[in-house]
Formats: sequence, C-alpha cells, structure tokens
Amino acid sequence: MPNFIEQLSRCLASPLLTGADISERYQHDWSSETAGVPIAVARPGTVEEVSAIMKLCSEHGQKVVVQGGLTGLCGGGNPRAQELAISLERLSGIEEIDTASMTMTVKAGTPLQVIQEAAAAQGFVFPLDLGARGTCNIGGNISTNAGGNQVLRFGMTRNLVLGLEAVLADGTVISSMNKMLKNNAAYDLKQLFIGTEGTLGIVTRAVLRLYPKALSRCSALIAVSEFPKVIELLHKLTRDFAGTLSAFEVMWHSYYHFITDNVKGITSPFGERHPLYVLVELEGGEQERDQLLFENSLGDAIEQGMATDAVVATSQREREGFWKIRDGVAEIGQFIRDVANFDVSVPISAMQAFLAAIESELKSNLPAAKMLVFGHIADSNLHFLCYTGRREDIKAMYSIVYRTVGQFHGSVSAEHGIGVQKLNYLHYSRSPAELALMQTLKQALDPKGLLNSGRVLLQQA
Ligand SMILES: Cc1cc2nc3c(=O)[nH]c(=O)nc-3n(C[C@H](O)[C@H](O)[C@H](O)COP(=O)(O)OP(=O)(O)OC[C@H]3O[C@@H](n4cnc5c(N)ncnc54)[C@H](O)[C@@H]3O)c2cc1C
Repeated sequence: MPNFIEQLSRCLASPLLTGADISERYQHDWSSETAGVPIAVARPGTVEEVSAIMKLCSEHGQKVVVQGGLTGLCGGGNPRAQELAISLERLSGIEEIDTASMTMTVKAGTPLQVIQEAAAAQGFVFPLDLGARGTCNIGGNISTNAGGNQVLRFGMTRNLVLGLEAVLADGTVISSMNKMLKNNAAYDLKQLFIGTEGTLGIVTRAVLRLYPKALSRCSALIAVSEFPKVIELLHKLTRDFAGTLSAFEVMWHSYYHFITDNVKGITSPFGERHPLYVLVELEGGEQERDQLLFENSLGDAIEQGMATDAVVATSQREREGFWKIRDGVAEIGQFIRDVANFDVSVPISAMQAFLAAIESELKSNLPAAKMLVFGHIADSNLHFLCYTGRREDIKAMYSIVYRTVGQFHGSVSAEHGIGVQKLNYLHYSRSPAELALMQTLKQALDPKGLLNSGRVLLQQA
C-alpha cells in the first residue's frame, strides 16, 4: 500500500516538493509570525487536482495550509511542521473576458497585476489595487477580502466578485460561477469563501467585475491643519465630485515626515511642515472639465479654511511622487525593526479620540513608544506602526491597541485579516454569539479541522 506522500504525488501532474526542494518562498509570508517547514508542497494546476488532494487529505486526516502569493501580513499562509502546503501558483491564468457583461473569469493563482493589465488592455479597469499587486494572487485577495486604495469608490474585494468556485475540505467542488449582479436564488454561497482566509474552502476560480476605464484623472496633495477639517474636506470633495472621488489617503505628520526625511528619492512638495496631509484623486470622463472642477473645488476648500495648502499634479511623474510618499510604508523596514503593525478600523467620528487614547496609554505604559499613522480614512481604516526599538514590547503594544479598539467599537482587522497574529484579540471585535456561529460554520464545512486550522478562529478543544 503506497504511503500518503506517494499517493499525493499521483494526484499531481507537477512534482510534489519535499525536503530540500521546499525553498524559502513556501516557508513564510510577509509577516514576522513564526513558521515551520511543511511536510511537502503540492502545486495543483487544475481544480480536479485540488479536489483529489483534499479527498486524500480528508481520508488521512492530513492538515493543510493554503498559499497564494504569500504577501499576507498576519501569518495565515505560514506553514506549520506536519502540515501539507497547497500553493495555488500553477492554477493561474485568465479564462475569459466577457466585454458585454463586463466580467473576467480567472483562476485563483493569477497575480493581481496580471488581471489589472488584462482588463486595461480591453479598455476596462479591475479596481482592486494594493502595494503587493505584482506578487499577491486573486485567490489570496478573495480569501482575505483585500481592501486597498480605491475602496471608497468600488468597495472591497467582496464587491468585485460575482462568482466563485471553491473546493471543500472533503474535496467537493462548489461551483457558483455566476456572472450576474443580481442573483437572489437562495444563499449566496460565495460569501462563505470571501474573507474567511482559507478556513472554509480553497478558492480555485472566480468571476470578477470590471468597470470602464476612466478617461481622466486629477491628483493633489493637500495640507490640513487639524483632523476635523479632514472630515469636512472629505464631505466637500465627495459632494463636489459626485461619485468620482477615487482616493482620499490621509497621512499624519509622524508618518509623512518619517518617509520624506528618511527614504531616498522621496521628497515633500511643500516648503513647510503641516499636521496632516491628504492625497486626493478624482477619476472621471473628461480631463479638461474634470481638472477645472478639481482645481475649483480645492481652491474653495482653501478659501473656506478646510485646507491650508494644495499641490496639484501636473504630470504623471508628479502624481507618482505623491503615491511614493503614501506607499513608502514598504521602505520603513530599512530604518526600524521590531515594529507592531496595525490595520484597524473605528468610526470616523471616533478616530481622533481613539488615536489620543492610544497615545496616552502608550505614554503611560511604554514611554519610549513612537507611532507612524496613515490610513484610508473614508473607509474608517487606520494603519499605524508602533515601535520602541525592543522586540519584547510588541505584545504589550498589541494588547494596548486592540483593547482600545474594543472600547471604541472598532475592528481589529480592517483589511489584512486575522491569520494567526490577531487570533487572541478577535473577541474585542466579535461577540461570543458571533464567534460561536463562526465555529458552527467551521465545524459544518470542515469537521476534521483540516483547512488552515488554528488560523482566524481559536481551535476548539
Ligand atoms: C507591500 C504590501 C502592501 C499591502 N497592501 C494591502 C492593502 O492595501 N490592502 C490589503 O487588504 N492588504 C494589503 N496587503 C496584504 C496582502 O497583500 C493581502 O492580504 C493579499 O490579499 C494577500 O494575497 P496573497 O495571494 O499574497 O495571499 P497569501 O498571503 O498567500 O494568503 C493570505 C491568506 O489567504 C489564504 N489563501 C490564499 N490563497 C487562497 C485560496 N486560493 N483559497 C483559500 N485561501 C487562500 C492563505 O491561507 C492565508 O490565510 C499588503 C501586503 C504588502 C506586502
């Protein structure tokens, strides 16, 4: 009787990776969470192979970890010793672009950037966009319900998925490859697999929603004196641009000046320093008309005291310069180590008080702590980095911040997910009844606890 590994190899057209063939890239994601080396890495190229692997794992009680592009920031894709890693990298490619329905059908391992470029080549846009676009996969984006830079206009990944196919823990294939915006024929099963981080099924294919490509774009960096004025500015621009505001990225001075003072090649276009900066974009249908509207609206905002100063991009290069400041977060690792990275949401109305509460808690408990703050404010989403220079303080920072998130009725994860990193803090954002229902779903779909076990939900005794 062949052993498990031999049987597994027979399910796959491509070689199973074991021992020294398991390279570093399958061993951890972008988080600093602990990881181990899996017993093997399976790289299925078809949904039938994924199904066969899960049937076999179910028979043998073999636990698996699912891997996309491994750009996750919460340790969800990190393998543990004794787990089988299933990488979706070979299940990649675009199956169809239906221009009349404005949909694209893709395999789960397709990199996000490949999807964006294929949409653009046909005059469309797939509006999910994030810094990891070149490496993350659409299956990973769907499983984490990724957010990114254009959520205020197009919603999170959930809003961009019309249909989905997934393989359950016992190998059953659930194909809901719907192309229609309206479909109320009973339960919307795809939602079980969106944002559940691979704990209920393995996403294998999806039907994505496309939008017509914008014909104009206007960008500006705006200086603001205090947070209440940021909210006034958001409301004004949302009203003035009538549905075409496509980015509203706020950077507190701590984050902005850390980047512009330290990262080579990134400079501030302002001569003076300001308390807050907002990167704003409008995407519309006619450049000349939109530019006039954009500049008039920003002029009004300055006149009405909502903004102190504004620099409007006059070229793509200038626009990229603005985004380099916002995306400069990826460079911070060169300068500071042992950082606690937060991705939380709180109601916009509570944001200022929330940040003040954290600063005060940190000051009394960890006086050396520093914070760099920025965020997708229109989505209630704050990102910040806290650090003292001591690795042993990270846990205390997690405790302080997540407890405060709970007090402000916020979410411990706005967009990155729970993975293993936030397992112990989920109760600050979810009630005991909600957590119990999540466990019921997990038990119903994966009774043997094979799929991404010990991620997202605490393991039941
Ligand atoms: C520089 C940078 C910028 C980022 N910016 C953003 C941002 O703006 N917004 C945001 O939301 N995130 C952001 N992220 C986080 C990350 O890119 C996203 O979470 C992304 O969606 C993960 O995709 P992935 O393919 O890399 O998934 P992985 O890291 O491989 O996996 C993430 C989770 O999904 C599961 N999974 C992966 N594929 C599947 C599948 N096919 N079926 C079932 N489960 C699966 C994994 O088991 C794991 O639990 C950023 C990361 C980096 C490094």
